[in-house]
Amino acid sequence: MATVTRAPLPARISPREDLNPFHIAQLQFDMAAEFLKLDAALRSLLRAPRRVLEVAIPVEMDNSQTKVFTGYRVQHNVVRGPAKGGTRYHLNLTLDEVKALATWMTWKAALVDIPFGGGMGGVICDPKRMSKAELERLSRRYAYEMLPVIGPETDILAPDINTDSQTMAWIMDTYSMAHGHLSPGVVSGKPVALGGSAGQREATARGAVVAAEEACKQKRISLRGASVAIQGFGSVGSVACRLFAERKARVVAISDSRGGAYNSRGIDPLRAQRYKDRTGTVVGMPGTSRLTNDELLALKCDILVPAALGNALTLANADQIKARILVEAANGPTTPHADEVLHRRGILLVPDILAGAGGVAAGYFEWVRNLDGSSSPEKDAAARLETVMRRAFAEVVATAQKHHAHLRQGAQILAVGRVAEAAAARGLFP
Ligand code: NAD
Repeated sequence: MATVTRAPLPARISPREDLNPFHIAQLQFDMAAEFLKLDAALRSLLRAPRRVLEVAIPVEMDNSQTKVFTGYRVQHNVVRGPAKGGTRYHLNLTLDEVKALATWMTWKAALVDIPFGGGMGGVICDPKRMSKAELERLSRRYAYEMLPVIGPETDILAPDINTDSQTMAWIMDTYSMAHGHLSPGVVSGKPVALGGSAGQREATARGAVVAAEEACKQKRISLRGASVAIQGFGSVGSVACRLFAERKARVVAISDSRGGAYNSRGIDPLRAQRYKDRTGTVVGMPGTSRLTNDELLALKCDILVPAALGNALTLANADQIKARILVEAANGPTTPHADEVLHRRGILLVPDILAGAGGVAAGYFEWVRNLDGSSSPEKDAAARLETVMRRAFAEVVATAQKHHAHLRQGAQILAVGRVAEAAAARGLFP
């Protein structure tokens, strides 16, 4: 068990929480840099993104009017390999959020020892109010505007909130048309018919469930029969729900942006998926009672899995969390102050850069097959992913123990250390 002294938060963070995700990512980095005693030059190199691109995306809407959207791509660090990261479509997306997500991707890839750097992008839009044709035109123009910075050897895109394999297919096709040849390696998470990997869709959730299994061992809890609450029933949360159920854990609560559904005896994942597909929400699913997202987070359960947006757990609710284990499938769901509260209360937190790393590992397997030109069916993708996750988990625990730190700090120290070592070895150009 990784035990633990508290690393104090720097005084510049006021008790009124700073919820800016990029400030949070930098604060986490500063702590790791302090543990690692990185010199000032390396600190400033690793603290800021290497490249930030902001673009205007004009799209003809179905009513023939033109609307101009704002899109971003951030490459945080490419010392260990090409940038790799998601594409988020959301109305509240901010550049600082994209910078934070790109930073976390750098650490995530390093943590599972995959030769990728960290990238992230997205568009400020409300995809739920757009038609499929509008989303296709938006995605294609976004890809076109990204042409100067993306590519299989420079920056590889992946799905994230409100994007999926279809979005990746449009982006890949646009990139391929512009270059005059098929280039599947520019995205991961594309359809299998285009060189995608069958296991990619569920990889992030599978990684999170493996991380939960390992955390259960630490806490001496059996996953079989353990009660689980999952916030977010999208690509990650819905698959996590199914994989927990396959391992005979009892998923007692699920939710989406409209609210949640609760059944103390357990929710059937397939019935939940069918209900969500039919109605657009899990709220009101027969055989469940309603609960709010706040109530879900505060449920008494063994494992809580935030799989929705950032800043779900803050100073405002950290003292109400009753789960014994928190598995961060989402990116940035917990603020540094909430971290401290949860840690003090003995809740074992598996941090996002570890729990959510299954996607980047599977994305790498897909990318290698694409670059190889392989069309043979992939073998043992799930087993390979599980091996990568279990190894990373053990390394994070060992690092945390060595530094008398908690798991987030252990994960950050391990990941930042790897990137810093590579950066130092490469030296400065020119
Ligand atoms: P998604 O768009 O498929 O699903 C998001 C889910 O969260 C939906 O069910 C939505 O209704 C719900 N949600 C939105 N706002 C909410 C709110 N305020 N309260 C409760 N639920 C809310 O997105 P996803 O791809 O499943 O991503 C979820 C999280 O996992 C994100 O943090 C993302 O960055 C992270 N992640 C995704 C991947 C991936 O491959 N898709 C990989 C790594 C990490």
